[in-house]
Amino acid sequence: MIKNRNIKKDLEQLDSILKEQGISRRDAMKMMGLGGAAFLAGGTEVEAATTLKASDAKGKILIIGGGLAGMSTAARLTSNLSNPDITVIEPEAESVSYQPGQTLVGGGIWPKSDIVYKRDEFTPDGVKVIKEKAIKFDPDNNTVTTDKGTKVSYDYLIIAAGVTLNYGAIKGLEEAGEAYSSGDNKKLVSILDSVGACSIFSADGSEATWTHIQKLAADAKSGKKLKALFTHPNTPIKCGGAPKKIMFLANSRLEEAGVRDNVEMHFYPNGGNMFGVKEYHNALSEQFKVRDFKHSYKHNLIAIDGKNKIATFNHHWTEKVLGMKI
Ligand SMILES: Cc1cc2nc3c(=O)[nH]c(=O)nc-3n(C[C@H](O)[C@H](O)[C@H](O)COP(=O)(O)OP(=O)(O)OC[C@H]3O[C@@H](n4cnc5c(N)ncnc54)[C@H](O)[C@@H]3O)c2cc1C
Repeated sequence: MIKNRNIKKDLEQLDSILKEQGISRRDAMKMMGLGGAAFLAGGTEVEAATTLKASDAKGKILIIGGGLAGMSTAARLTSNLSNPDITVIEPEAESVSYQPGQTLVGGGIWPKSDIVYKRDEFTPDGVKVIKEKAIKFDPDNNTVTTDKGTKVSYDYLIIAAGVTLNYGAIKGLEEAGEAYSSGDNKKLVSILDSVGACSIFSADGSEATWTHIQKLAADAKSGKKLKALFTHPNTPIKCGGAPKKIMFLANSRLEEAGVRDNVEMHFYPNGGNMFGVKEYHNALSEQFKVRDFKHSYKHNLIAIDGKNKIATFNHHWTEKVLGMKI
């Protein structure tokens, strides 16, 4: 059973080991991102590069999207090629931010500043960044055009444009439309706020989630009986564990505030289990019981009525029907 204080202890221990080596947590993450296995094995990104046999292959490489995928690919190619010619098209200045940390920001363990990184500080040496958005692909002529009219030619094209978060698919949140996890999502946060909702799937949203959890604890302290809903939609999502992780973290915070009994916590996943692997499903189900979390499988959030604080779900199931007549 992992409680907040244990995570804090582990992070403190990690920080102190890194401190001994003169490395900040931020730099450690950078080295893990760029140096990969060599860093984990006790080496550095420089060693990772030199132990690999450099290729003399030539050609213009164009990467669309400079998120963690695009930038780490650029870094790996920079290490592997003797004469790299790499261009990344990425409009967002904070595209390399550490999204898995958003759960910890939402749970009040890290400040947002710990996970927000500047793209330009993480651009591998020699890689050119065009700070624009690709809007047109012309594969017949190997060119990509940006929103500002820049035309870029390539020999090899890598598309790493990520996935968008489609909040607008939920009735009541149409104005939110689509968003990316990194960058300025203040408008999205204020739309979610206006219906009493929050989401850890953007960096700004995770910060707002922590504010919501604190408010929930404060309201519960005043004696109100409250209900907190946690959802997992029917679309592919960037982290299947995150909806449950934030539920466990919120629970710890409410317990610490001594108000857990005043809040009913209910998980509504679209799927029919806690996890695809049976053993994990069983372990998580057990932990749900221990913490008195309620859950309703096969529920997909389709609408939010912020004024009346009502969430509407599409509850779906299958039935074997014998002798059906239509
Ligand atoms: C809450 C949360 C928890 C997570 N936890 C984990 C975890 O525990 N373990 C794990 O492995 N992963 C986890 N992930 C997933 C992981 O963080 C993401 O999969 C990863 O960051 C995605 O990187 P990406 O570069 O593919 O996409 P993105 O980060 O979405 O980056 C795509 C980039 O492409 C750019 N782009 C888009 N369109 C264009 C265009 N037309 N032209 C130019 N640029 C464009 C965007 O501006 C963006 O910067 C988590 C994610 C979240 C949100």
